[in-house]
Amino acid sequence: MKRLLILALLVAVAGTVLYLGERYKAGGHVGPEGALNAAAELQREVSRVPARITRLSDQQEMLAGDRMAQQYSTTYSEADAPMQEYVSEVGRRVAAHARRKFTYKFHYIPESYLVNAFALPGGHIFIGKGLIDLMDSEDEMASVLGHEVEHVEHYHCNERASIEAAARHLPLGGLIVLPIELFQAGYNKEQELEADRDGTQLAVMAGYSPQGAIRMFQAFEKLEHQYVTKDETPDQEIPRVAIESITGYFRSHPLSAERERQIKLLIVAQKWPEPQEKPLKVSANQVAEEK
Ligand SMILES: [Zn+2]
Repeated sequence: MKRLLILALLVAVAGTVLYLGERYKAGGHVGPEGALNAAAELQREVSRVPARITRLSDQQEMLAGDRMAQQYSTTYSEADAPMQEYVSEVGRRVAAHARRKFTYKFHYIPESYLVNAFALPGGHIFIGKGLIDLMDSEDEMASVLGHEVEHVEHYHCNERASIEAAARHLPLGGLIVLPIELFQAGYNKEQELEADRDGTQLAVMAGYSPQGAIRMFQAFEKLEHQYVTKDETPDQEIPRVAIESITGYFRSHPLSAERERQIKLLIVAQKWPEPQEKPLKVSANQVAEEK
């Protein structure tokens, strides 16, 4: 009887993997909306896959991440260099207390539509101009970068890569290169809240105020209210593509109010210090205006 049950489970798992494989083989989504929707849908589906996940080794994860990061090329201008340096500086400070021994690399994407940040396997962290535009303190940036570092630390990126490789029949032993879109949207709610907790902890250990995370969530709450609950009304000041990116982000992440509540409880429970927030040293808009 037990054997039959195991067999049934295996058949079910194989069926799910095959289904995912067929479904995502096509790929080729256009624009952030399609990409985010596909990734959010994938996230919902993979969180139901009951399989035991075989993780990539650190070495495999690093090679795969490096290759994917290379392929995600953006056009930088001279004017973007100060922000790129600044993002790297804050990122390095936050990642100083990371547990996995990767060399974390931080990339600035100078695109207003990218109201998002994401991590690739192996420790490549990307942050979009659209998200930095919502910030006014370095502490907010530290909380976002810390959150992304934790998606690597907790093997969320690694496991997604592994599940996707299985769905696409790519052998784990080979070099796994997957579409970036798969890593651009969120993970399941528990994983997101875990990244919030430990990401804020990393920022606090680096000397930042946890209020940075709180204020970031409050900025998201405002956007949720503006663009998600109000029937996604287009605003003249924000291009359509940015709105699509924002609403896609909220479809794939837990509600900001819940994320804020968790961090507020932790500030009290952990007795986290709350130093004065530091204003952003480089503004993404200043950089854009100088062009
Ligand atoms: Zn996340």
